[in-house]
Amino acid sequence: MAVVRIWLLGLVALGMWFVCLWGSEPHKPPVVSPTGTAFSVANAEQVLARVLGPEKPHPVSSPENAAVRARILKEFAALGVPAHTYTAFTCNEQDARKFGLLPCATVTDIIADVVPGRGKAVVMLAHYDSVPAGPGASDDESSVATILETVRALKAAHGTSRHPVMAVITDGEEAGLLGANAFLQNAALKARVGAVVNVEARGTRGASLLFQTSAGDSKLIDLYAHSVPFTSTSSLYAEIYKFLPNDTDLTLFLADGFPAYNFAFSENVRYYHSPFDTRRNLSRATLKMHGDNLLGVVRSLQQTDFAALKGSNDVYMSVLGLWLPRMPAAWALPLSILCFVVIAIAGWVTRKRDGTDGPMWSAVLMPPALLAGCVAIGFALAFVAQTISGMPDPTYAYPLPMRIALGLSVWGMTMLVARMTSLHGAATSAWLWMAGLAVVSAATLPGLSPYFLFPSIVAAVLLFVSAFVPGKWDGLFGRVAIFIAALAALLSWMPLVVNGETLMGLRLHPLFTVPAAFGLMTLAPLIAAWPRRHLNWLSCETFAFIAVAAVTILAGLHPAYSKASPQRLNLIYFENAKLPARWIADTSWKAKAPEPISAPLRKAGGFKRDADAYAGLHLGAGDVAPAGTPRYPLPTATIVKDQVENGVRHVALRLQGSDATDAMFLIVPKEAQLVSLDMRGQRIAPTKSGDLRVICASRDCNDVTFGLTLRNAGPVTLKFAERRYGLPAFGAKLAAARPLWAMPSQSGDGVFLANEVKLTSP
Ligand SMILES: [Zn+2]
Repeated sequence: MAVVRIWLLGLVALGMWFVCLWGSEPHKPPVVSPTGTAFSVANAEQVLARVLGPEKPHPVSSPENAAVRARILKEFAALGVPAHTYTAFTCNEQDARKFGLLPCATVTDIIADVVPGRGKAVVMLAHYDSVPAGPGASDDESSVATILETVRALKAAHGTSRHPVMAVITDGEEAGLLGANAFLQNAALKARVGAVVNVEARGTRGASLLFQTSAGDSKLIDLYAHSVPFTSTSSLYAEIYKFLPNDTDLTLFLADGFPAYNFAFSENVRYYHSPFDTRRNLSRATLKMHGDNLLGVVRSLQQTDFAALKGSNDVYMSVLGLWLPRMPAAWALPLSILCFVVIAIAGWVTRKRDGTDGPMWSAVLMPPALLAGCVAIGFALAFVAQTISGMPDPTYAYPLPMRIALGLSVWGMTMLVARMTSLHGAATSAWLWMAGLAVVSAATLPGLSPYFLFPSIVAAVLLFVSAFVPGKWDGLFGRVAIFIAALAALLSWMPLVVNGETLMGLRLHPLFTVPAAFGLMTLAPLIAAWPRRHLNWLSCETFAFIAVAAVTILAGLHPAYSKASPQRLNLIYFENAKLPARWIADTSWKAKAPEPISAPLRKAGGFKRDADAYAGLHLGAGDVAPAGTPRYPLPTATIVKDQVENGVRHVALRLQGSDATDAMFLIVPKEAQLVSLDMRGQRIAPTKSGDLRVICASRDCNDVTFGLTLRNAGPVTLKFAERRYGLPAFGAKLAAARPLWAMPSQSGDGVFLANEVKLTSP
């Protein structure tokens, strides 16, 4: 019977995974009147359909971009809201400092006065441009539609407002936060900003998460909790997001210290920045939650004194979307220490004096053994699946077998380590580790602390009370207490198992196994409570690990990609002055190493791996094939000026591309010793040493003059290139050989025409 009870505990853990999966989805919204004061998702969907029109990609400065902008202006006009555009050439210097990449473009933002008035405004922020490879229905036209429907609902309420409300719909976000940059570079526009709510997308489904707030967020979190029907947030997201290279328009507003919220949905990230980012794939429940968040928070901000929004930091974690426990970050450390002490006392009071607990070191080592075992087996399973599949992420299209393998192996490990100790030893150890890690995280990474602290508070109370009940922890009351504490731990950690997979896939298996192990270690006391005969135990473990091996092999045998989950593969026609023209099959989307491409495509083009696919531009490896005689004129450079004055070299360099130029690249190499770069009134002094890559991403960049101030007065070679989006007609045959389980993404297919210019000594 012990075996059955133990596997029932496994089912409880699985059940909690399902509960947390449900909790991480947007909850079913009530249907509301399309003319009322609530957010109507039906209206938002219609607005989105009108704004997107033919659902074509509309990157900054393309004709489709202008068409989308005109349709948005028409929507504002229909709502009776005055809106105007603001056009400027801008360069985002922050990216140059961070990544050695300088994006520039002429952008046209839309600025609408939703609720007019004096004083600083509540700003609703979203971007209307898309990447060149996809129509951007979710990213970020869904947010534009969300803002437009929010405007309608705000106006329908006829309420009074302490502050004006503005909508700022930016251009060129995808090209490097350029619309937001241009807006903030304009002092008069920036002076109008009071508080900001940004709405974004990194997928097509899932909860609209509050994943970022401005620093000192306790008042903001309070306002959010009171203003929206369902919450989805955690102080951990903001901590993680600090370490990710991803940015949104809000990054620039946060740098200026405005109180701010950032909402985004991120499930189904496989369609992010791809041709599949269509209206059809956008979830209705997600759009509704996005709208409820924006409308709720903006309504509350309208009535709030902005100065009162500054506060201390909170730690928080929403539970199933229904509850948002939170506390000041400053409380986390003392409370964690208190929990640790209370659990230690309870463990001391309930200790066995007859030695049946086994050695103490064994109990102490149980949780770290579980964690180490789970991490190790995760790597082992990923290695086996990768070796069988030959692809870096074999579970991309069909994650279920690997999910089962990882889940079962974490469970198998839990059953294994539970034998190291007794109920009392495991309960004391698991919860002292949990509370101990709450102390450590509260001191070092407060945003993470609620995951350890909140369940520790539940456990401290229950373990302490049950220590003084007859039977102590071994009695019925004690076991129920341990079970409830374990449920609290699972409720805290299982959402991370679910969301970790959503955000990163199973390729980052520690994001699956580590949080699962933290949850499951609290079930170990109950497993240890039912001693099994050795044979039973052995058969349980053998069964678990044979099953794990079988599903892992299955995971490796499944194809890595499918029609529904395609590989990201751009086809690029490349020319320069030195080499014959070439085709590049580029799979290096946000990955360091390119992936294998399909055999039919490889044969159709005659592709071979090349470590420097974009000959000399250092854009990484790819598969390269001959493309015959060159077809296009290359862009040209004219040295307008090259003089040394007062020991520094001043160069004026004019680059000219064809009329079909979508973007122009310039690489200023490290050895040029760049002091500053001037371009159409923008001056940038990069602080990051190394090459500076300038990407001028609007069509007017086909004739642009750079002013370069250099320290190197010797010979310097500058490389540059013209980029055109979309595959030329002569590439149609090759594109047809791209399998159905591959698609262009991000900047998509296109043409690269590279050239270089030598600056000799002036
Ligand atoms: Zn976006």
